[in-house]
Amino acid sequence: MTSDRAKRIIDILQQGQPDEQVTVQGWVRTKRESKGFSFMELNDGSFMANLQVVINADLPDYEVVIKKINTGASVEVVGTLVTSQGKGQRIELRAASITVFGEADPETYPLQKKRHSFEFLRSIGHLRARTNTLSAVFRVRNACAAAIHQFFQERGFLWIHAPIITANDCEGAGELFTVTSLDLQKLPQTADQKVDFTQDFFGKKAYLTVSGQLQAEVMAMAFRDVYTFGPTFRAENSNTSRHLAEFWMVEPEMAFCNLQGNMDLAEDFLKYVFKYVLDHCQADMEFFQERIDKTVLATAENIINNQFERLTYTEAIAILQKADKTFEFPVNWGLDLQSEHERYLAEEVFKKPVILTNYPVEIKAFYMRLDEDEKTVAAMDVLAPNIGEIIGGSQREERLDVLERRIIQQGMDPADLWWYLDLRRYGTVPHAGFGLGFERLVQFMTGMGNIRDVIPFPRFPENADF
Ligand code: ATP
Ligand code: MN
Repeated sequence: MTSDRAKRIIDILQQGQPDEQVTVQGWVRTKRESKGFSFMELNDGSFMANLQVVINADLPDYEVVIKKINTGASVEVVGTLVTSQGKGQRIELRAASITVFGEADPETYPLQKKRHSFEFLRSIGHLRARTNTLSAVFRVRNACAAAIHQFFQERGFLWIHAPIITANDCEGAGELFTVTSLDLQKLPQTADQKVDFTQDFFGKKAYLTVSGQLQAEVMAMAFRDVYTFGPTFRAENSNTSRHLAEFWMVEPEMAFCNLQGNMDLAEDFLKYVFKYVLDHCQADMEFFQERIDKTVLATAENIINNQFERLTYTEAIAILQKADKTFEFPVNWGLDLQSEHERYLAEEVFKKPVILTNYPVEIKAFYMRLDEDEKTVAAMDVLAPNIGEIIGGSQREERLDVLERRIIQQGMDPADLWWYLDLRRYGTVPHAGFGLGFERLVQFMTGMGNIRDVIPFPRFPENADF
């Protein structure tokens, strides 16, 4: 193997010139044998298209090499670029020498050239990244992540790392994974026959985090603008195409900011990420448009070029009640909107993303700021065509007395949240933020139907393979 890293195939396909000597490395996608020469399609994950390699029969050990370069084999090719005579590519590589690193037995290698169902590909999670669709997904996923960091870093937001293990159970009760080092065969018990978590690793019951928001609020009170971008966990037993047990969340939090500023940030953010991906992953996006969902490019353009519609929950309820459409869940004020309502608003009424605000206090979390009328809170959800809720956020309750009252009303103990309440005791300010499910964003961007196919190693009920 050469000590210099070989050129990436994307660079060769985009910038390579005839007569240039190059070394490439990758995995064989297909091989076609002809009289006197063979073709091999090579992919290294850098680009949707393969590099076509022409192998003349005068290559040393031609017969031996050709036998070895089956689909899935790993090779290094040294050769010269030539203008391609065939259609479909500008340039191809004429091999001078080929090193086969690892063969792939055509009898057993599962990824032979044919269409495989996504479900089958999930069962070979260790190999599926070598397919066109999954590799395009993971490139787009990477571009989304890069865009997110770039967006926030350009605006001076500090990336903070929220803890993965937490002892707060105030959010998402019932969906928490417990973290313990107790011996499950010999659980210590309290006098009243419960598990004695005071003997556990942390001296109390601990969980995997469901959100980094509370910690983001702590950091926003020191740095003004911060964001988290990390894994979160929910023991959702729902087998849906939009829920994972382990997913990544992006949670910006801004001090000295109200709901208006929060909506502006959410809208700028989505526009920025879509534009970045269109600019950086053109070939992948065209692939999704052609093979997965004929609307992805129009949807992206729609997000980038249109102002999002903004209206209150109350206004949305009025629109839904007037709709000449029967919903599975009947609409009345106070209803927690379901996906069917959200999609109707985004897809049929406004035909673009919609930001709904000021939801009923009963259906939203305790930390959302109570509005003047005390019936609604300063919440906002961004609803997207084809997806429904993609972002959920709010202005936070910064008034100590109101926050304490809300915590008690929800049956929680303010003492458990003493440190969170301290933020309101010492230097409190109006502040706001939102949470975006990263995989939902990637799904939205690519048109992929199942969330399990936009994360490399999906975790869901009865599955933690690979
Ligand atoms: P849903 O109603 O879809 O279950 P939620 O109301 O539970 O969502 P939030 O608690 O507001 O969601 O979480 C913030 C964001 O995280 C959501 O807007 C969504 O994009 C994403 N999200 C929530 N649960 C999951 C999950 N299980 N898998 C992947 N993404 C999720
Ligand atoms: Mn949920």
